[in-house]
Amino acid sequence: MRIKSFTTYPLAVADPPLRSSYGRHAPYALRTALVLETTDGITGIAEAHGGDGPLAALEAIKPMVLGMDPFQLTRLWDQTADPSGAGDRSQTWFVPGENPRDARTRSYAAVEAACLDLIGKAVNRPVCDLLGGRARDAAPFSAYLFYKHAGGGGLGDDARDDEYGECLTPASMVAQTHRMMDLYGFKEIKLKGGVLPPEDEIETMRLLRAEFGPTVPLRIDPNCAWSVETSVMIGLALKDELSGGGYFEDPTAGMDGMAEVRRRLLAAGVDTPLASNVAVTALEHIVPAWETGASQVILSDPHYWGGIRAVQRMSMLCDSLGLGVSMHSNNHLGLSLMIMAHTCCASPAMQFACDTHYPWQTEQDEIIEGGRVRFVDGAVPIPDKPGLGVSLDMDQVHRLGERYRSLTYRKRDDEAEMRLHVDPNWKRILPRW
Ligand SMILES: [Mg+2]
Repeated sequence: MRIKSFTTYPLAVADPPLRSSYGRHAPYALRTALVLETTDGITGIAEAHGGDGPLAALEAIKPMVLGMDPFQLTRLWDQTADPSGAGDRSQTWFVPGENPRDARTRSYAAVEAACLDLIGKAVNRPVCDLLGGRARDAAPFSAYLFYKHAGGGGLGDDARDDEYGECLTPASMVAQTHRMMDLYGFKEIKLKGGVLPPEDEIETMRLLRAEFGPTVPLRIDPNCAWSVETSVMIGLALKDELSGGGYFEDPTAGMDGMAEVRRRLLAAGVDTPLASNVAVTALEHIVPAWETGASQVILSDPHYWGGIRAVQRMSMLCDSLGLGVSMHSNNHLGLSLMIMAHTCCASPAMQFACDTHYPWQTEQDEIIEGGRVRFVDGAVPIPDKPGLGVSLDMDQVHRLGERYRSLTYRKRDDEAEMRLHVDPNWKRILPRW
């Protein structure tokens, strides 16, 4: 069995005007679908970061993939080694998918997922069963809440209904949470912070705890918007809200800043775990994060950590060091959701519900056959089907591709959207508070 074709499909996906410390989401998020076909006529599929940069990086390894035996992934990893990728891979200043130093891990991950999908089809087993079997049969996800402007995403005739409405106050966040929990059955809550002044975000978390109670773990992630002092103040203020299975994600920038926040909180008797997908984004960051105390929970991601098997390795390492493991999310469709679900189920140490942006996308933008993936009690069950368990709706893939070509968006630029819609002088400043 050899790979005889490698085809990428750029996709533009309607996205609501969600806010974070990076700025405001554009009306469309960019993704890429990858389709590999073997000489036996078996097809493997994957979803990856989108936009011209990630797409070009993925296309660059095409010559290494064509003619390859899909079982020989280790060799492909060696072949994609790129000395220019050395150096700091932290995401402090990059939105996910736009870090040029992640080109190798991102591109390899897409090919690996597609190869595992086609191997699963060849041997008639789900992907997670190829990787040593599953720790669980369904992957739990968290309700991923965002402050947002009015609007459901898309432009003009292609605009989506605003399912969740404007949400720029603590009280409206409670309404957003109820809707998302009711629709999907999530059991854990993550608030994207770093948007409103700290006192408003503290109030939001207090309202959420009062509304949903201590059995629903809470986490907040301001993407480094706060100084060390502000982070410590908020960590103290939210001591109770972040207890009971929650965590405090990337309050401040850099491993040193995170370690300082940890030291000061511990000195004050608060042992809320710090989590990171900004300071800690690669295997080589884990031991320093553990030694310095910069992070007690590491957020994996099968897209930029280097694939499903890389996340298995990182989760084993974290488990050995006594660190917790969770999963980061970027805008994505159902195919990525299935890659994330298989990864979670094949990674025993993943004890936190994974993040997902999936509730922010709609049926109109789904690329998998049969429509959107269904959640059961906040979790995605592994289908009783080979490979990733889903197939592409090529009509939809072409529709989203036509939209990509008709638009001018070619990279994620949340600062530009802020300047266009909110403040013409807006810049991402760290720390903002
Ligand atoms: Mg994060």
